[in-house]
Amino acid sequence: MTTTGSLRGRVALVTGSTSGIGLGIARALAAEGADIVFNGIDDDATGTALSRDTAARFGVRALYHDANMAQPTQIADMVRFTQDKLGALDILVNNAGIQHVAPIEDFPATKWDAILAINLSSNFHAMKAALPAMKARNWGRIINIASTHALVGSPEKSAYVAAKHGVLGLTKVAALETARTGITVNAICPGWVLTPLVQQQIDDNARARGTTIDDEKQALLRAKQPSGEFVTPEQVAALVIFLCGDAAAQIRGAAFNVDGGWVAQ
Ligand code: NAD
Repeated sequence: MTTTGSLRGRVALVTGSTSGIGLGIARALAAEGADIVFNGIDDDATGTALSRDTAARFGVRALYHDANMAQPTQIADMVRFTQDKLGALDILVNNAGIQHVAPIEDFPATKWDAILAINLSSNFHAMKAALPAMKARNWGRIINIASTHALVGSPEKSAYVAAKHGVLGLTKVAALETARTGITVNAICPGWVLTPLVQQQIDDNARARGTTIDDEKQALLRAKQPSGEFVTPEQVAALVIFLCGDAAAQIRGAAFNVDGGWVAQ
């Protein structure tokens, strides 16, 4: 990874950053010199080890906060924690997300509520908490990790697709409300990225159909992703870094597909 230290002095909070895409984004931000607050639902020891390792590896300050993104008061507490411990919150990446796959008539209402809370409402609560201080400093970057499912649907993913479409609407409104400030708000829409969230779906399909994990990986790609290759967390993270820079200051309310051609079809 080529880095320039372009974000030294900035403070970033990445929700859901103990795994997968969020971890890739947090590491890329730290590699650029940003101080980092990690978040996830892991135990304190895991989160603390991750932040210690990141601090040592990249020479930045790094902390962990275990706010449950389904809980608005815990989200506000995490934003305050970031500002108190690291002096500011300049870059907010709303990334935490979960999935559940079932037809609407079998979809548990509790799963619907949890997905809407974690994948959509958490973005609103985190922005609401972060925006006043960003406005006072007249600088900020908010990047919401949506999905191709913010743009197109797939069967059996009602809550996820509804939540991710909502993320794009929220991104546009937040971008308009900050249009005359130094704060930009944008969304990234990844296609398949091979993280634990997707591995779970692959494992479930292999179990249900009596096929191999590799068969199911190829089947996912064949069904949706014309490139035939998974997107990597590093590729999503590189776009986050670009959106944090001065060259992206007039990119506002946009949604970027990083999806091997999924939504071009
Ligand atoms: P992942 O399962 O690897 O990681 C999810 C992270 O979110 C973990 O750090 C986990 O601890 C955290 N998390 C889960 N529930 C939480 C909660 N209640 N409170 C706080 N943290 C919580 O998932 P991933 O694939 O890296 O997904 C990250 C984001 O990217 C999600 O918003 C997902 O919808 C989106 N996305 C993923 C893909 C993909 O193919 N993997 C594609 C498009 C979009």
